[in-house]
Amino acid sequence: MTVRLLGAGAAAPDLRLPATEIAAAWGRGPGRGHVGVCAPDEDTLTLAWEAATAALAAAGLEPTQIDACYWGTSRPPFAEGPSHAFLAAGLGLSSHAAGALCSGSTHAGMDALLAGADAIAAGSAQTVLVVVSDALRPAPGTGFEARCGAGAAALILGGAGGHAALGTRVTRSRPLLDRYRGDGETDNRDLYDARLFREEIFLPAVSEVASALASFDVAAWSLPDPDGRLGAVVAKLVGSGAPSSTAVYGAVGDSGAAAALLGAVPAFDAPGLVAVVGTGGGRTTGVLVDVETPVPGAALALDALAEGRNASYTEALRSRGQLVPGGETIPMGVPPESALFARGADEMFGLLGGRCVDCGTISTPPSIHPTCIACGGAKLEPVSVARRGVVHTYVVNYTMPAPFVAPLPIAVLDMDDGARLMLQVIGDGSDVAIGRRVDLILRKYAHERGVPVYGFKARPQKEGA
Ligand SMILES: [Zn+2]
Repeated sequence: MTVRLLGAGAAAPDLRLPATEIAAAWGRGPGRGHVGVCAPDEDTLTLAWEAATAALAAAGLEPTQIDACYWGTSRPPFAEGPSHAFLAAGLGLSSHAAGALCSGSTHAGMDALLAGADAIAAGSAQTVLVVVSDALRPAPGTGFEARCGAGAAALILGGAGGHAALGTRVTRSRPLLDRYRGDGETDNRDLYDARLFREEIFLPAVSEVASALASFDVAAWSLPDPDGRLGAVVAKLVGSGAPSSTAVYGAVGDSGAAAALLGAVPAFDAPGLVAVVGTGGGRTTGVLVDVETPVPGAALALDALAEGRNASYTEALRSRGQLVPGGETIPMGVPPESALFARGADEMFGLLGGRCVDCGTISTPPSIHPTCIACGGAKLEPVSVARRGVVHTYVVNYTMPAPFVAPLPIAVLDMDDGARLMLQVIGDGSDVAIGRRVDLILRKYAHERGVPVYGFKARPQKEGA
Protein backbone atom coordinates (compact mmCIF):
# COMPACT_ATOMS: atom_id res chain seq x y z
CA MET A 1 0.00 0.00 0.00
CA THR A 2 1.36 3.43 -0.88
CA VAL A 3 1.68 6.13 1.72
CA ARG A 4 0.52 9.52 0.46
CA LEU A 5 1.26 13.01 1.70
CA LEU A 6 -1.89 15.16 2.08
CA GLY A 7 -0.57 18.32 3.71
CA ALA A 8 2.30 19.89 5.62
CA GLY A 9 2.89 22.53 8.26
CA ALA A 10 5.78 24.20 10.04
CA ALA A 11 6.27 26.31 13.14
CA ALA A 12 9.03 28.34 14.75
CA PRO A 13 9.24 29.83 18.24
CA ASP A 14 8.74 33.55 18.96
CA LEU A 15 12.34 34.51 19.77
CA ARG A 16 15.55 34.68 17.70
CA LEU A 17 18.90 34.71 19.47
CA PRO A 18 21.61 36.31 17.28
CA ALA A 19 25.00 34.56 17.40
CA THR A 20 26.60 37.97 18.05
CA GLU A 21 24.74 38.05 21.42
CA ILE A 22 26.23 34.70 22.45
CA ALA A 23 29.69 35.70 21.23
CA ALA A 24 29.57 38.97 23.21
CA ALA A 25 28.45 37.16 26.39
CA TRP A 26 31.46 34.84 26.29
CA GLY A 27 34.00 37.36 24.96
CA ARG A 28 34.44 35.54 21.67
CA GLY A 29 34.81 36.76 18.11
CA PRO A 30 31.82 37.78 16.02
CA GLY A 31 29.16 35.16 15.37
CA ARG A 32 27.00 34.61 12.31
CA GLY A 33 23.25 34.06 11.98
CA HIS A 34 20.72 33.34 14.71
CA VAL A 35 18.75 30.48 16.26
CA GLY A 36 15.12 30.09 17.29
CA VAL A 37 14.39 30.16 21.04
CA CYS A 38 11.09 29.52 22.79
CA ALA A 39 9.37 32.38 24.60
CA PRO A 40 8.61 31.56 28.27
CA ASP A 41 5.14 30.25 27.32
CA GLU A 42 6.37 28.07 24.45
CA ASP A 43 7.91 24.60 24.47
CA THR A 44 8.22 21.52 22.26
CA LEU A 45 4.51 20.75 22.76
CA THR A 46 3.21 24.21 21.78
CA LEU A 47 5.50 24.17 18.71
CA ALA A 48 4.15 20.72 17.79
CA TRP A 49 0.60 22.04 18.24
CA GLU A 50 1.23 24.97 15.92
CA ALA A 51 2.80 22.88 13.13
CA ALA A 52 0.10 20.20 13.42
CA THR A 53 -2.68 22.81 13.32
CA ALA A 54 -1.14 24.31 10.17
CA ALA A 55 -0.86 20.86 8.52
CA LEU A 56 -4.47 19.98 9.33
CA ALA A 57 -5.66 23.28 7.83
CA ALA A 58 -3.49 22.74 4.73
CA ALA A 59 -4.93 19.24 4.22
CA GLY A 60 -8.47 20.53 4.82
CA LEU A 61 -9.07 18.05 7.65
CA GLU A 62 -10.76 18.32 11.02
CA PRO A 63 -8.71 17.06 14.01
CA THR A 64 -11.35 14.38 14.65
CA GLN A 65 -10.53 12.80 11.26
CA ILE A 66 -7.04 11.80 12.47
CA ASP A 67 -6.79 8.09 13.43
CA ALA A 68 -3.29 8.22 14.91
CA CYS A 69 -0.72 10.81 15.93
CA TYR A 70 3.01 10.00 15.88
CA TRP A 71 5.06 12.63 17.70
CA GLY A 72 8.84 12.73 17.54
CA THR A 73 10.71 14.94 20.01
CA SER A 74 13.94 14.31 21.88
CA ARG A 75 12.69 16.16 24.94
CA PRO A 76 8.93 15.72 25.62
CA PRO A 77 7.42 17.99 28.30
CA PHE A 78 7.30 15.08 30.76
CA ALA A 79 10.25 12.70 31.17
CA GLU A 80 7.47 10.29 32.11
CA GLY A 81 3.85 11.38 31.87
CA PRO A 82 0.92 12.33 29.62
CA SER A 83 2.92 14.23 26.94
CA HIS A 84 1.14 12.56 24.00
CA ALA A 85 -2.31 12.80 25.60
CA PHE A 86 -1.80 16.51 26.33
CA LEU A 87 -0.87 17.22 22.69
CA ALA A 88 -3.77 15.12 21.35
CA ALA A 89 -6.25 16.93 23.62
CA GLY A 90 -4.87 20.36 22.75
CA LEU A 91 -5.24 19.56 19.04
CA GLY A 92 -8.78 18.30 19.55
CA LEU A 93 -8.02 14.78 18.29
CA SER A 94 -10.56 12.07 19.03
CA SER A 95 -10.02 10.28 22.34
CA HIS A 96 -9.89 7.11 20.17
CA ALA A 97 -6.85 8.34 18.22
CA ALA A 98 -3.85 6.00 18.51
CA GLY A 99 -0.18 6.57 17.71
CA ALA A 100 3.05 6.88 19.68
CA LEU A 101 5.50 9.26 21.26
CA CYS A 102 8.98 8.70 19.83
CA SER A 103 11.83 10.09 21.89
CA GLY A 104 15.31 9.48 23.26
CA SER A 105 17.43 11.19 20.60
CA THR A 106 17.19 13.56 17.66
CA HIS A 107 16.48 10.48 15.51
CA ALA A 108 12.98 10.50 17.06
CA GLY A 109 11.64 12.61 14.18
CA MET A 110 12.50 9.92 11.64
CA ASP A 111 11.09 7.26 14.00
CA ALA A 112 7.76 9.13 14.09
CA LEU A 113 7.64 9.61 10.32
CA LEU A 114 8.31 5.94 9.56
CA ALA A 115 6.02 4.64 12.31
CA GLY A 116 3.22 6.82 10.92
CA ALA A 117 3.89 5.60 7.39
CA ASP A 118 3.89 1.98 8.58
CA ALA A 119 0.52 2.46 10.29
CA ILE A 120 -0.96 3.58 6.96
CA ALA A 121 0.77 0.77 5.06
CA ALA A 122 -0.45 -1.82 7.56
CA GLY A 123 -4.00 -0.49 7.36
CA SER A 124 -4.25 0.15 11.09
CA ALA A 125 -4.89 3.85 10.39
CA GLN A 126 -6.45 5.68 7.45
CA THR A 127 -5.26 9.20 8.24
CA VAL A 128 -2.17 9.88 10.32
CA LEU A 129 -0.65 13.02 11.81
CA VAL A 130 3.15 12.95 12.03
CA VAL A 131 4.53 15.81 14.05
CA VAL A 132 8.17 16.46 14.93
CA SER A 133 9.34 19.18 17.29
CA ASP A 134 12.19 20.14 19.56
CA ALA A 135 13.30 22.98 21.79
CA LEU A 136 16.60 21.80 23.22
CA ARG A 137 18.41 23.52 26.05
CA PRO A 138 22.12 23.83 25.23
CA ALA A 139 24.55 24.19 28.11
CA PRO A 140 25.64 27.85 28.35
CA GLY A 141 29.08 28.56 26.90
CA THR A 142 29.19 25.51 24.65
CA GLY A 143 29.79 25.71 20.92
CA PHE A 144 26.41 24.03 20.42
CA GLU A 145 24.70 27.10 21.89
CA ALA A 146 25.10 29.16 18.70
CA ARG A 147 23.64 26.33 16.63
CA CYS A 148 20.92 24.85 18.85
CA GLY A 149 17.51 26.09 17.77
CA ALA A 150 13.87 25.12 17.99
CA GLY A 151 11.07 24.38 15.55
CA ALA A 152 8.45 21.92 14.42
CA ALA A 153 7.03 20.32 11.28
CA ALA A 154 3.96 18.22 10.67
CA LEU A 155 2.69 16.00 7.87
CA ILE A 156 -0.69 14.45 7.23
CA LEU A 157 -0.38 10.96 5.75
CA GLY A 158 -3.07 8.88 4.08
CA GLY A 159 -3.44 5.83 1.87
CA ALA A 160 -4.94 7.65 -1.13
CA GLY A 161 -5.20 11.09 -2.70
CA GLY A 162 -2.63 13.70 -1.81
CA HIS A 163 0.24 15.19 -3.69
CA ALA A 164 3.32 13.09 -2.92
CA ALA A 165 4.28 9.54 -1.95
CA LEU A 166 6.78 8.16 0.54
CA GLY A 167 9.26 5.81 -1.10
CA THR A 168 12.59 4.11 -0.49
CA ARG A 169 14.07 4.22 2.99
CA VAL A 170 17.57 3.44 4.21
CA THR A 171 18.76 3.15 7.79
CA ARG A 172 22.07 2.52 9.58
CA SER A 173 22.80 1.96 13.27
CA ARG A 174 26.10 1.99 15.21
CA PRO A 175 26.58 2.13 18.99
CA LEU A 176 28.54 5.41 19.03
CA LEU A 177 28.15 8.48 21.23
CA ASP A 178 27.20 11.63 19.40
CA ARG A 179 25.45 14.57 21.06
CA TYR A 180 23.67 13.34 24.20
CA ARG A 181 22.17 14.23 27.55
CA GLY A 182 22.59 11.93 30.55
CA ASP A 183 19.73 10.81 32.77
CA GLY A 184 18.77 13.65 35.10
CA GLU A 185 20.76 16.22 33.15
CA THR A 186 18.82 19.28 32.06
CA ASP A 187 21.18 20.86 29.51
CA ASN A 188 22.38 19.29 26.28
CA ARG A 189 26.08 18.53 26.28
CA ASP A 190 28.31 19.59 23.45
CA LEU A 191 30.43 17.22 21.40
CA TYR A 192 33.56 16.13 23.23
CA ASP A 193 35.80 15.93 20.17
CA ALA A 194 34.42 17.71 17.10
CA ARG A 195 36.97 16.19 14.73
CA LEU A 196 36.36 12.64 15.95
CA PHE A 197 32.61 13.22 15.63
CA ARG A 198 32.99 14.53 12.10
CA GLU A 199 35.40 11.93 10.73
CA GLU A 200 34.41 8.74 12.52
CA ILE A 201 30.82 9.17 13.65
CA PHE A 202 28.82 11.67 11.57
CA LEU A 203 30.30 11.52 8.09
CA PRO A 204 30.57 7.70 7.74
CA ALA A 205 26.93 7.16 8.79
CA VAL A 206 25.31 10.11 7.05
CA SER A 207 27.26 9.80 3.82
CA GLU A 208 26.48 6.06 3.62
CA VAL A 209 22.75 6.68 3.92
CA ALA A 210 22.83 9.71 1.61
CA SER A 211 24.88 7.82 -1.01
CA ALA A 212 22.31 5.03 -1.07
CA LEU A 213 19.57 7.60 -1.79
CA ALA A 214 21.74 9.49 -4.32
CA SER A 215 21.42 6.57 -6.76
CA PHE A 216 17.92 7.95 -7.37
CA ASP A 217 17.36 11.23 -9.20
CA VAL A 218 17.10 13.41 -6.09
CA ALA A 219 15.98 17.00 -6.75
CA ALA A 220 16.28 18.39 -3.20
CA TRP A 221 18.01 17.29 0.02
CA SER A 222 17.31 17.82 3.67
CA LEU A 223 20.59 16.97 5.38
CA PRO A 224 21.62 17.13 9.03
CA ASP A 225 23.96 20.04 9.69
CA PRO A 226 25.09 20.04 13.33
CA ASP A 227 27.81 22.69 12.94
CA GLY A 228 26.85 24.83 9.93
CA ARG A 229 29.34 23.11 7.65
CA LEU A 230 28.71 19.36 7.65
CA GLY A 231 25.45 19.62 5.67
CA ALA A 232 27.33 21.13 2.74
CA VAL A 233 30.10 18.51 3.07
CA VAL A 234 27.58 15.65 2.73
CA ALA A 235 25.83 17.45 -0.15
CA LYS A 236 29.14 17.66 -1.98
CA LEU A 237 29.84 13.95 -1.36
CA VAL A 238 26.58 13.02 -3.08
CA GLY A 239 27.14 15.46 -5.94
CA SER A 240 24.49 17.95 -4.95
CA GLY A 241 24.55 21.72 -4.56
CA ALA A 242 23.50 23.39 -1.32
CA PRO A 243 20.84 21.30 0.45
CA SER A 244 17.38 22.85 0.57
CA SER A 245 17.46 22.49 4.35
CA THR A 246 20.08 25.29 4.49
CA ALA A 247 17.34 27.94 4.47
CA VAL A 248 15.58 26.28 7.43
CA TYR A 249 18.80 25.98 9.47
CA GLY A 250 19.46 29.66 8.67
CA ALA A 251 16.01 30.61 9.99
CA VAL A 252 15.83 28.63 13.25
CA GLY A 253 19.12 26.73 13.71
CA ASP A 254 19.40 23.00 14.38
CA SER A 255 15.93 22.00 15.53
CA GLY A 256 16.99 18.55 16.79
CA ALA A 257 14.36 15.88 16.16
CA ALA A 258 12.41 18.32 13.94
CA ALA A 259 15.40 19.23 11.75
CA ALA A 260 15.17 16.53 9.06
CA LEU A 261 11.47 16.92 8.28
CA LEU A 262 11.39 20.69 8.84
CA GLY A 263 14.35 21.03 6.46
CA ALA A 264 12.39 19.12 3.81
CA VAL A 265 8.97 20.79 4.05
CA PRO A 266 9.78 23.84 1.85
CA ALA A 267 11.02 21.43 -0.86
CA PHE A 268 7.61 19.70 -0.91
CA ASP A 269 6.37 22.77 -2.81
CA ALA A 270 7.96 21.65 -6.10
CA PRO A 271 7.73 18.38 -8.07
CA GLY A 272 10.69 15.98 -7.82
CA LEU A 273 12.31 13.55 -5.41
CA VAL A 274 13.10 14.98 -1.98
CA ALA A 275 15.60 13.07 0.18
CA VAL A 276 15.06 13.47 3.93
CA VAL A 277 17.97 12.39 6.14
CA GLY A 278 17.94 12.49 9.93
CA THR A 279 20.52 11.39 12.47
CA GLY A 280 21.06 11.10 16.22
CA GLY A 281 21.56 8.58 18.97
CA GLY A 282 23.84 6.42 16.81
CA ARG A 283 21.18 6.02 14.12
CA THR A 284 20.79 7.58 10.69
CA THR A 285 17.77 7.18 8.44
CA GLY A 286 16.91 8.53 5.02
CA VAL A 287 13.62 8.41 3.14
CA LEU A 288 12.61 9.59 -0.32
CA VAL A 289 9.45 11.61 -0.90
CA ASP A 290 8.24 11.71 -4.50
CA VAL A 291 6.46 15.05 -4.93
CA GLU A 292 4.07 15.09 -7.91
CA THR A 293 2.30 18.41 -7.32
CA PRO A 294 2.97 21.05 -4.63
CA VAL A 295 1.96 19.74 -1.18
CA PRO A 296 -0.57 22.09 0.48
CA GLY A 297 1.08 24.05 3.28
CA ALA A 298 4.65 23.59 2.01
CA ALA A 299 4.76 27.05 0.39
CA LEU A 300 3.90 28.67 3.74
CA ALA A 301 6.67 26.92 5.67
CA LEU A 302 9.48 29.41 5.14
CA ASP A 303 7.11 32.32 5.89
CA ALA A 304 6.20 30.67 9.21
CA LEU A 305 9.90 30.39 10.08
CA ALA A 306 10.83 33.90 8.98
CA GLU A 307 8.92 35.66 11.75
CA GLY A 308 10.26 36.14 15.26
CA ARG A 309 11.62 38.83 17.53
CA ASN A 310 15.30 39.26 18.39
CA ALA A 311 16.13 38.45 22.00
CA SER A 312 19.16 39.34 24.10
CA TYR A 313 21.32 36.56 25.56
CA THR A 314 19.93 37.12 29.04
CA GLU A 315 16.35 37.03 27.73
CA ALA A 316 17.05 33.72 25.98
CA LEU A 317 18.63 32.25 29.13
CA ARG A 318 15.69 33.40 31.25
CA SER A 319 13.23 32.00 28.76
CA ARG A 320 14.97 28.60 28.78
CA GLY A 321 14.97 28.55 32.57
CA GLN A 322 18.76 28.84 32.79
CA LEU A 323 18.66 32.23 34.50
CA VAL A 324 16.32 32.13 37.47
CA PRO A 325 15.54 34.98 39.90
CA GLY A 326 16.23 34.41 43.56
CA GLY A 327 13.52 34.67 46.19
CA GLU A 328 9.98 33.43 46.34
CA THR A 329 7.81 32.89 43.31
CA ILE A 330 4.03 32.87 43.42
CA PRO A 331 2.86 29.27 43.09
CA MET A 332 -0.47 28.33 41.60
CA GLY A 333 -3.14 28.16 44.24
CA VAL A 334 -3.96 24.60 43.28
CA PRO A 335 -1.64 21.62 42.79
CA PRO A 336 -1.62 20.45 39.15
CA GLU A 337 -2.40 16.87 40.28
CA SER A 338 -5.54 17.99 42.07
CA ALA A 339 -9.20 17.25 41.38
CA LEU A 340 -9.67 20.70 39.85
CA PHE A 341 -7.22 19.89 37.06
CA ALA A 342 -8.53 16.34 36.59
CA ARG A 343 -12.09 17.61 36.22
CA GLY A 344 -11.16 20.69 34.18
CA ALA A 345 -8.68 19.01 31.79
CA ASP A 346 -11.16 18.44 28.95
CA GLU A 347 -12.57 21.93 29.43
CA MET A 348 -9.13 23.54 29.29
CA PHE A 349 -7.57 21.55 26.42
CA GLY A 350 -10.77 21.50 24.38
CA LEU A 351 -11.60 25.12 25.31
CA LEU A 352 -15.17 24.09 25.97
CA GLY A 353 -18.17 26.29 26.60
CA GLY A 354 -21.71 25.35 27.64
CA ARG A 355 -24.27 26.13 24.92
CA CYS A 356 -27.80 26.74 26.21
CA VAL A 357 -30.27 24.32 24.65
CA ASP A 358 -33.03 26.93 25.05
CA CYS A 359 -31.49 30.19 23.78
CA GLY A 360 -28.15 29.19 22.16
CA THR A 361 -25.97 31.42 24.36
CA ILE A 362 -22.50 29.97 25.09
CA SER A 363 -21.37 30.38 28.72
CA THR A 364 -17.68 30.03 29.59
CA PRO A 365 -16.08 28.45 31.47
CA PRO A 366 -18.81 25.87 31.96
CA SER A 367 -17.53 24.72 35.36
CA ILE A 368 -18.12 28.24 36.73
CA HIS A 369 -21.50 28.72 34.98
CA PRO A 370 -23.75 25.74 35.67
CA THR A 371 -26.68 27.73 34.24
CA CYS A 372 -27.07 29.92 31.13
CA ILE A 373 -25.74 33.49 31.66
CA ALA A 374 -28.50 34.87 29.38
CA CYS A 375 -31.74 33.07 30.31
CA GLY A 376 -30.77 31.06 33.38
CA GLY A 377 -31.59 27.81 31.61
CA ALA A 378 -30.13 24.69 33.21
CA LYS A 379 -29.69 22.61 30.07
CA LEU A 380 -26.18 23.29 28.70
CA GLU A 381 -24.35 21.11 26.13
CA PRO A 382 -20.54 21.20 25.88
CA VAL A 383 -19.26 22.80 22.66
CA SER A 384 -15.76 23.67 21.51
CA VAL A 385 -15.51 27.47 21.44
CA ALA A 386 -14.54 29.16 18.13
CA ARG A 387 -10.81 29.74 17.72
CA ARG A 388 -11.21 33.19 16.18
CA GLY A 389 -12.76 36.35 17.51
CA VAL A 390 -12.33 40.02 18.23
CA VAL A 391 -11.04 42.02 21.23
CA HIS A 392 -13.95 43.44 23.24
CA THR A 393 -11.73 45.12 25.83
CA TYR A 394 -8.33 44.57 27.42
CA VAL A 395 -5.80 45.59 30.05
CA VAL A 396 -2.00 45.41 30.08
CA ASN A 397 -0.69 44.37 33.50
CA TYR A 398 2.73 45.86 34.29
CA THR A 399 3.27 44.41 37.74
CA MET A 400 3.30 40.64 37.71
CA PRO A 401 4.99 38.49 40.35
CA ALA A 402 7.46 35.82 39.19
CA PRO A 403 7.14 33.43 37.41
CA PHE A 404 4.82 35.62 35.32
CA VAL A 405 6.46 38.05 32.94
CA ALA A 406 5.27 41.67 32.66
CA PRO A 407 3.87 43.35 30.65
CA LEU A 408 1.05 40.82 30.52
CA PRO A 409 -1.95 41.72 28.33
CA ILE A 410 -5.30 40.17 29.25
CA ALA A 411 -8.31 40.57 26.95
CA VAL A 412 -12.03 39.95 26.97
CA LEU A 413 -12.82 38.42 23.58
CA ASP A 414 -16.00 38.05 21.58
CA MET A 415 -15.53 34.84 19.63
CA ASP A 416 -17.04 34.23 16.19
CA ASP A 417 -19.62 31.83 17.66
CA GLY A 418 -20.85 34.40 20.19
CA ALA A 419 -18.93 33.05 23.19
CA ARG A 420 -17.18 35.58 25.41
CA LEU A 421 -13.79 34.59 26.89
CA MET A 422 -11.12 36.23 29.01
CA LEU A 423 -7.62 35.08 28.06
CA GLN A 424 -4.01 36.17 28.17
CA VAL A 425 -2.69 37.75 24.98
CA ILE A 426 0.67 36.84 23.43
CA GLY A 427 3.24 39.65 23.23
CA ASP A 428 3.75 42.88 25.17
CA GLY A 429 0.32 44.35 24.42
CA SER A 430 1.56 46.89 21.87
CA ASP A 431 -0.47 45.23 19.11
CA VAL A 432 -3.70 44.82 21.10
CA ALA A 433 -6.62 47.14 20.36
CA ILE A 434 -10.36 47.05 20.83
CA GLY A 435 -11.81 45.51 17.68
CA ARG A 436 -8.55 43.75 16.71
CA ARG A 437 -9.12 40.23 15.38
CA VAL A 438 -7.33 37.41 17.21
CA ASP A 439 -6.57 33.71 16.72
CA LEU A 440 -6.35 31.36 19.69
CA ILE A 441 -3.23 29.24 19.98
CA LEU A 442 -2.04 26.75 22.59
CA ARG A 443 0.61 28.04 24.99
CA LYS A 444 2.06 27.14 28.38
CA TYR A 445 0.55 29.10 31.27
CA ALA A 446 2.72 27.72 34.04
CA HIS A 447 5.20 25.00 34.87
CA GLU A 448 4.97 23.82 38.41
CA ARG A 449 6.05 20.71 40.31
CA GLY A 450 7.30 19.38 36.94
CA VAL A 451 3.86 19.77 35.36
CA PRO A 452 3.39 22.09 32.37
CA VAL A 453 -0.04 23.71 32.40
CA TYR A 454 -1.27 24.41 28.88
CA GLY A 455 -4.17 26.54 27.74
CA PHE A 456 -5.21 28.83 24.92
CA LYS A 457 -4.00 32.39 24.50
CA ALA A 458 -5.02 35.05 21.99
CA ARG A 459 -2.66 36.14 19.24
CA PRO A 460 -3.59 39.42 17.51
CA GLN A 461 -3.82 39.05 13.73
CA LYS A 462 -1.51 41.29 11.76
CA GLU A 463 -3.04 44.53 10.59
CA GLY A 464 -4.62 44.04 7.19
CA ALA A 465 -4.86 40.24 7.70
ZN1 LIG B 1 -30.08 30.40 27.66
